Amino acid sequence: MADKRDYYEVLGVAKTASDEEIKKAYRTLAKKYHPDLNPGDKEAEAKFKEASEAYSVLSDKEKRAKYDQFGHAAFDQSAGGYSYGGAGGFGFDINDILSSFFGGGFGGGRSRSGPQAGADLQQTVYLTFEEAAFGCKKDISITKNVACDSCQGTGSASGKTTRCPTCGGTGTVENTRVSSFAHFVTQSACTRCGGTGVVIDDPCKVCSGRGKIRKTVTVPVEFPAGIDDGQAISKRGMGEPGTHGGPAGDLIISVRVGRHPTFVRDGYDVYMNRTISFAQAALGDVIRIQTLYGDVNLTIPEGTPGGSRFKLRGKGIQRLNSSSKGDQYVNITVETPKRLNSEQKAALKRFDELSGGTLEAAGSEGAGNSGSDRSSRKPFGKKK
Ligand SMILES: [Zn+2]
Ligand SMILES: [Zn+2]
Repeated sequence: MADKRDYYEVLGVAKTASDEEIKKAYRTLAKKYHPDLNPGDKEAEAKFKEASEAYSVLSDKEKRAKYDQFGHAAFDQSAGGYSYGGAGGFGFDINDILSSFFGGGFGGGRSRSGPQAGADLQQTVYLTFEEAAFGCKKDISITKNVACDSCQGTGSASGKTTRCPTCGGTGTVENTRVSSFAHFVTQSACTRCGGTGVVIDDPCKVCSGRGKIRKTVTVPVEFPAGIDDGQAISKRGMGEPGTHGGPAGDLIISVRVGRHPTFVRDGYDVYMNRTISFAQAALGDVIRIQTLYGDVNLTIPEGTPGGSRFKLRGKGIQRLNSSSKGDQYVNITVETPKRLNSEQKAALKRFDELSGGTLEAAGSEGAGNSGSDRSSRKPFGKKK
């Protein structure tokens, strides 16, 4: 994807702009750069397309939210591409936008002969923890309708068609539409011929006259670093094809992210548990800690209590559309020594003596055995 300008910048509005401000900004630009008003002016046309694309996203609440979160990556257009006139992959009909402003579109010659947008396709993709953290590319297989090779999408075996008697071959019937801006006459597809203007006498055997067949295609998809479980990527124009020049639907890829054996992710931060020995906690130590970016040293200060949490700044997950990263947190558990041999026990008793003597049963031989009143007590309700 070439350097794309920020949609807000294109329309010259603030990120916090209201729907009304966005509409107004686009209306001004559309009037200024519309190709019908600037015949042959390539720069004006490019500006018009850019503004229209920006408006199509920012005027749609859902798309705007996606854009705010993911930027242009939310609408990876490398495959479909935006195209002016509603026939391409961008997924919106420019005439629809313009007619809502100017009451019927420009130029008069661009009447709609019933184009219909293709359906969106849904696919779930499972990423590993690392794939989501660092971003990855994957080829996604989807099965969808494509033009039939045998009849070149005409649906007719011989390629011969007859003019539709209902619409006289125009493919459209007229009706009046009312919008909040104006009343205007619009044209919709003839139901007899489906807007094609022709009827097929000898349907293609491969596609039974549909002009389309089911085919499995491979779509390369780029998952940006920092994407998280439950988020989705939309590939413009990679859904089902539209009919009669309508835009193709989108391919919506839902992302599920797997667990990591060490790390637990929360937003862009990662958490891990680490157990240290009683001696490390008491004396302090420098320990090696696993991070997503390789091992690092962590200094455990003298007298670190169990339940302490250390922060490794910038060792979390990269934020979407940003080079900054979250943090890593290390939760410390202090291990109480178990199954000590007599030498270790003696050392700990000596340590206790030096600490002022906290062991209450230290004097009695075999502490914790039958002699002690405390330890002879059985758990409630448990009978021998
Ligand atoms: Zn017809
Ligand atoms: Zn066919």
